[in-house]
Amino acid sequence: MNLPERDRELHAFLHFSDEQPLVQDGPLSGSAVAIKDNLCIQGWPTTAGSRILENFVPPYTATVVERLRQAGARLVGKTNLDEFAMGSSTENSAYGVTRNPWDLERVPGGSSGGSAAAVAAGLCDMALGTDTGGSIRQPAAFCGITGLKPTYGRVSRYGCIAYGSSLDQIGPLAYTAEDCARVLQVIAGPDALDSTCYQEVCPDFSAEMKADCKGLRLGWDPALVKDLPGDMRAAFEAGLEVYRSLGVTLVEVSLPHLEYSLPAYYLIATAEASSNLARYDGVRYGHRAQGAKDVGSMMSKTRAEGFGPEVKRRIMLGTYALSSGYYDAYYAQAQKMRTVLRQDFEKAFAATDAFALPTTPAPAFKIGEKSDDPLAMYLSDVYTVVANLTGLPAISHPGGFVGGLPVGLQLMAPAWQEGRLLQLAHHFQQQTSYHQKRPQMAAV
Ligand code: GLN
Repeated sequence: MNLPERDRELHAFLHFSDEQPLVQDGPLSGSAVAIKDNLCIQGWPTTAGSRILENFVPPYTATVVERLRQAGARLVGKTNLDEFAMGSSTENSAYGVTRNPWDLERVPGGSSGGSAAAVAAGLCDMALGTDTGGSIRQPAAFCGITGLKPTYGRVSRYGCIAYGSSLDQIGPLAYTAEDCARVLQVIAGPDALDSTCYQEVCPDFSAEMKADCKGLRLGWDPALVKDLPGDMRAAFEAGLEVYRSLGVTLVEVSLPHLEYSLPAYYLIATAEASSNLARYDGVRYGHRAQGAKDVGSMMSKTRAEGFGPEVKRRIMLGTYALSSGYYDAYYAQAQKMRTVLRQDFEKAFAATDAFALPTTPAPAFKIGEKSDDPLAMYLSDVYTVVANLTGLPAISHPGGFVGGLPVGLQLMAPAWQEGRLLQLAHHFQQQTSYHQKRPQMAAV
């Protein structure tokens, strides 16, 4: 069966390509890689899951994609996502939902749900996602694979359609930490085309990954998991025990302000989104409404037609948070909370090398279950948004099964320590077989 046929039930892809590898003996030669559809590729449709970009074909290519090509990867297509990466289920795509390969009635997570589902179902070896508040890690957890959000600034965002510019990062999804390390090595590092990109040359992530993790100290905060459903907590604690068996020392540390990360995130992300999305005005590119009498009504008609309900909601929330008279009460307060959270982690990392927490409070939910309740949807990001607010790197790796569905174990580390996250996850995967389990549909 060809790729479009194999994807028929899942709908992980929005666009397929039969592009042949550019290079024959690169570090990613022989690997089939899928690209989230908010990353521009010259000459390929790039929709970001939105009607407003339905016929948009970018005139340039994202740095990460260019680097994958130079490394010999075979690019197989563009994957589905929540519109402009706003969501946690891929139900907000204007082009239909993607299904979870472990249970077709459930969501694959989001917003990189197409990328996670494509990897989990074996439709590609690796995929790129973007993570503004968990969009790589949460779908990786829901689909039983590994996903890494690099440190803010580690990977060039040139050619990435912006959502929250102080939060967005691009990163890899794959079954194993080892494959995530291979992709990260290729895409990370300085880029003259992105001034927010860190100038230091990257370490050898695969070498760092292999170093023995005996003696590393892994922090966790019991208060953060005490209210979890019993089976979720049991899976998390079993994961910690695996680390203990690897010679990692578990250390209890306190992250007292984590509960403020979700409200801070939803203020900052929406504020930045409202500003980033102002560029979709029907004038320069993308959809333009017909029949308007003047430029003002053309713009509002274009946006009314082009944006979906969740994107409109976020633009309204963000515009409100930024408006005069409210700015100090909301946006400025949320920014201060980022500093407080950063200080919490500085304290935690004074006594530890990494920090463990669940990726999500529950496994994949049913399609439609939360789509009428935006707050319930936002609450599913409670453990992931803090990595974006602080800029710290974070990984989610398979951490067991709850009710037959995969769940993730999340690790965070000090800035620029992606190697340590890969090292811990890799050794966990040498000791366990969760990452080798495949959904039934991947076997056929
Ligand atoms: N679910 C979060 C949101 O909707 C995170 C999305 C993301 O990381 N792109 O904003």
